[in-house]
Amino acid sequence: GYRKGGYHAARPGDRFAGGRFVAQRKLGWGNFSTVWLAYDTLESRFVALKIQKSARDYAHAARHEIELLSAAAKADPTNSKCVVRLLDHFKHTGPNGQHVCLVTEFLGDSLLRLIRYNRNKGIGLSRVKEICRSVLVGLDYLHNELGIIHTDLKPENVLLVSTINPAKDPVRSGFTPILDRLVGNQYGGAVISFSEKMLKMRARRAVAKISQRRVSLGGVAAEVDKERNLDGISLKCKIVDFGNACWADQQLAGEIQTRQYRAPEVIIGSGYSYSADMWSFACMAFELATGELLFAPKCCQGCSEDEDHLAQMMETLGKMPRKMATSGTRSKDYFDRYGDLKRIKRLKFWPVDRILVERFDFTEPDAKGFTDFLQPILDFTPENRPSAMQCLKHPWLN
Ligand code: ADP
Ligand code: MG
Repeated sequence: GYRKGGYHAARPGDRFAGGRFVAQRKLGWGNFSTVWLAYDTLESRFVALKIQKSARDYAHAARHEIELLSAAAKADPTNSKCVVRLLDHFKHTGPNGQHVCLVTEFLGDSLLRLIRYNRNKGIGLSRVKEICRSVLVGLDYLHNELGIIHTDLKPENVLLVSTINPAKDPVRSGFTPILDRLVGNQYGGAVISFSEKMLKMRARRAVAKISQRRVSLGGVAAEVDKERNLDGISLKCKIVDFGNACWADQQLAGEIQTRQYRAPEVIIGSGYSYSADMWSFACMAFELATGELLFAPKCCQGCSEDEDHLAQMMETLGKMPRKMATSGTRSKDYFDRYGDLKRIKRLKFWPVDRILVERFDFTEPDAKGFTDFLQPILDFTPENRPSAMQCLKHPWLN
């Protein structure tokens, strides 16, 4: 990572864009970048600074992300569409080369951290609904108003909206060294930047020191050994990471999406559109509600990850319609002409509502309500899936 063409190694206090932005601490990273909390000395605010790897392909991806995020910002003057706001961009030259940097509004923790924070048990249906509403507003905006397919929707790429102003609330925002370690990323009001184990260890050591501060923490962070309590935490969220997003009419990549969130039409190569994002959205909603991946494909004896993935889909959703199964450029690799998988013959049908009841202890009404919402989005035929706008009108959300 940290070599020529790779990540830029930043340190707290480093200045960017002629001194305007001062790095505070690392917020996260992805395959393409590291992201830092930075202070904007010109506008007196905290921002997120995404420092892209320097190699040419990464720089190109960053410029593409700037183009899409600029369009998203322009058409949403009130910043209410649940898409991260681009504030500025510039180039930064360091020992590893020239890095394109994106300055965006500063957000909270990712849904992935939220899921982990809740000990992989799901976050409760009312919170799932709240998050679904935000994500659907974002998707409707991207799809309907902008013509953008995100192509990499997953819990890591949806961030909670920070309700804490780091400038006004230095304790909660983690600038106090001890609390910083204990609380980690507290901005979304929920989560942590350290592993549970490490957090508990540090918490035990630090808890005596911070007990007087418990009140100012709102009783959230210090309660590390108790059941997670998310009450009173805003669950508005925003879609981030447009590094792979595309204009629907200018698709570049044939294979899109992160494995577990990949739609069937992408696997069989039958062309994709906005509805591929809807598939990922449904996988993510299931994961928020249960704490487990809906599909977790792996290579098995004599069959590929793709085939296992298709088999898992059919075990949960029923048989893929023959017309769909045979319509892709890669259909022949996986299916016979009847639309049956070539190498995986015995499928155990276990539908979504039964999984919710039998594996995740949902009540029958909860399982039914959630399945009514989810199942239509998981239609094998992309054209049959409801749009984000149609999902927003579903009774389960209202
Ligand atoms: P990549 O393209 O490298 O995956 P992302 O845009 O997904 O980069 O950012 C990587 C990580 O950085 C995210 O998963 C998140 O943890 C953190 N992050 C990104 N943008 C912000 C932001 N605006 N506010 C706070 N954290 C952010
Ligand atoms: Mg990412």
